[in-house]
Amino acid sequence: MILNKQKVAALLDHLAGARDVFVPASVDGVAKFARYGEGVTPDFDMVNTTMPPKDLLFPQTQKMYHFDVDENGSYHIHEYDESREQVVFGIRPCDMRSIVCLDEVFLTKGFVDEFYANARDKLVCVCIGCAKAAETCFCDSMGVDPQMAPNADVMLQDCGDAYLVLAQTEKGEAEVATWSAFTEEGDAQPVAPDLTLKVNMEGVVDKLEGMYDHPIWENLSIKCLNCGTCTYVCPTCHCFDISQDMRRKDGVRFRCWDSCMFSEYTMMAGGHNPRPEKLERVRNRFMHKLNFFERRYGMSLCVGCGRCVEKCPVALDITRLIDEIGA
Ligand code: SF4
Ligand code: SF4
Repeated sequence: MILNKQKVAALLDHLAGARDVFVPASVDGVAKFARYGEGVTPDFDMVNTTMPPKDLLFPQTQKMYHFDVDENGSYHIHEYDESREQVVFGIRPCDMRSIVCLDEVFLTKGFVDEFYANARDKLVCVCIGCAKAAETCFCDSMGVDPQMAPNADVMLQDCGDAYLVLAQTEKGEAEVATWSAFTEEGDAQPVAPDLTLKVNMEGVVDKLEGMYDHPIWENLSIKCLNCGTCTYVCPTCHCFDISQDMRRKDGVRFRCWDSCMFSEYTMMAGGHNPRPEKLERVRNRFMHKLNFFERRYGMSLCVGCGRCVEKCPVALDITRLIDEIGA
């Protein structure tokens, strides 16, 4: 089945009639997944957004529950469920792999995060395979196929003037069944991207086992500003803080993104901080990406999207680190 690119705008209008549809777009100078509608022009030629799509499942700030105190001093809790039926249209294969990582964190090992689970159930993912790559993309070195995402509900392979449409899940089949006014029967050849940035991950996970006290971490930490940019733009970083806002007898408990690059992140109530210096924090970030997550879930926590490579203000580059570890 084929979707001609000239029909995509009409298809988006059709989809947005019933649900919130998110598309890659530049809004106020920031490339992100924005709600399709007035003032938002989708840009499906953009290789990657600056901000990842993780906030569709794990919002930057999320109300968890509201509470109040009655005249007898009793507390009452009112649950929030702000999840909605959503479609993300134009997510890339690296970001689809990041959702595999987030699913592991929020839905497995005996605990289900209900906020994430509700949002995940209501999200339909329409992935567009990449026909071109940025110079910071290295997804194929991290085991991601830039033309395919097995966990996408619908896969659109970029064939130049048209997309080849593949429904890959039950949700995807139900979705594509509503697209018949915009699609046609046919076949086309996907255009393959040329990824020039390569890393060799062979042996890196095992080598890191013996590198906890290696001088490489000190060299990295001298350069790092601990600004946290890398963690905010990373599609797989998922740490959060929980806080509350109380006014008189009403309050809201909420969570918001946090960053392991900040010293307060691991500060304990008694004043002890197990990661007091930049060195420990930088080491933790890269060990988590390349070793700890692999040991716990059997996969890398880096999907090779290249966002941190592009956005780090001091050009601290995970691909160079992987090469150094290998060497
Ligand atoms: S973006 Fe760069 S400087 Fe900022 S915390 Fe990350 S590695 Fe350090
Ligand atoms: S560590 Fe960097 S390259 Fe890897 S997934 Fe995160 S932002 Fe992308």
